[in-house]
Amino acid sequence: MSGEFDIIQRYFATSNTVITDNVKFAIGDDCAITNLPPTQSLAITTDTLVENIHFFADISPQDLAYKTLAVNFSDLAAMGAKPTWVSLALTLPHIDHHWLQSFSQAFFQTLADYQVTLIGGDTTKGSLCLTVTAHGVVEKGKALYRHGAKVGDWIYVSGHLGDSAAGLKLLQQQQKNPNTKSAVTFEQEFLIQRHLRPSPRVELGLALTDIANSAIDISDGLVGDLGHILRASQCRAEIELTQLPLSVPLIQQMGQQQAQQLALTGGEDYELCFTVSPEQRQYLHQLSAQINVPLHCIGQIQAGQPNIVYKQNGEVVDLPLTTSSFDHFK
Ligand code: ADP
Ligand code: MG
Repeated sequence: MSGEFDIIQRYFATSNTVITDNVKFAIGDDCAITNLPPTQSLAITTDTLVENIHFFADISPQDLAYKTLAVNFSDLAAMGAKPTWVSLALTLPHIDHHWLQSFSQAFFQTLADYQVTLIGGDTTKGSLCLTVTAHGVVEKGKALYRHGAKVGDWIYVSGHLGDSAAGLKLLQQQQKNPNTKSAVTFEQEFLIQRHLRPSPRVELGLALTDIANSAIDISDGLVGDLGHILRASQCRAEIELTQLPLSVPLIQQMGQQQAQQLALTGGEDYELCFTVSPEQRQYLHQLSAQINVPLHCIGQIQAGQPNIVYKQNGEVVDLPLTTSSFDHFK
């Protein structure tokens, strides 16, 4: 008979765990014990994924394991922190060994890719739900905040925007009409993969600690998340719509207008939006090539009320967009 302790022992307290010098004790006691180097601050974040809210019931255990870590690492990246340890609170409706085997294998693979240790967790019965608490380290005084944007800063985003939201739309269509699964095009598969396997920009976040004035990760859409920087920093932004980074598959699948709309308001891209003083532009070109991540300048911070002004080829345009982010209770 397998129970809670058997699951922990078989799938999580395994020798697959990366053990670093800073972990004194991981799984198997009432708490994990870690050491923090004296020059570093601890960054801590938690994200929960709930079945049918954050993922469809038929998601593969591998994709779920990856995403539950990626969304947390993205938060650490946005603070300029290097992920070090995670804990996993796992709620399962029943014990499915095949599922658990696939899940834990993908979970430990992702942890190994980022050199992160699983230091503990909790295992309970109920509707499928995963909560990861991720810890990261950042040199004292170097964390990136939302409140640091300065008038004159250029606004940058990494990667491409809108792909994940388009991928979600395609997955929603597949849920309604499963026949469409067999006829997925290359572009559609690309967009679905951007939704299931976002790239947390950890390396970029670490590099930005020396140069960015503010940063946030784009989980709820550019307009909403840039809005957080503007309110925290008490300034306004001017965005040039022609500079929004749109991927070729996104434009091909959705058309230019819908692609732009998704880039502005679609969620879950897990790219970074950050601001830098003008003299850093040259360095960002180099950095982009060095870490192989596209970095696009999309606008500038200006004095004024927290608000976004949109321009198209330099002309102010009116966009009927709100700066409200996704809210679970609305
Ligand atoms: P307690 O009852 O003291 O809270 P538990 O019985 O919940 O402890 O957990 C026993 C050990 O197993 C602890 O070290 C805990 O962190 C770890 N653990 C429990 N569930 C998980 C999990 N899903 N992944 C990793 N570690 C886990
Ligand atoms: Mg417990």
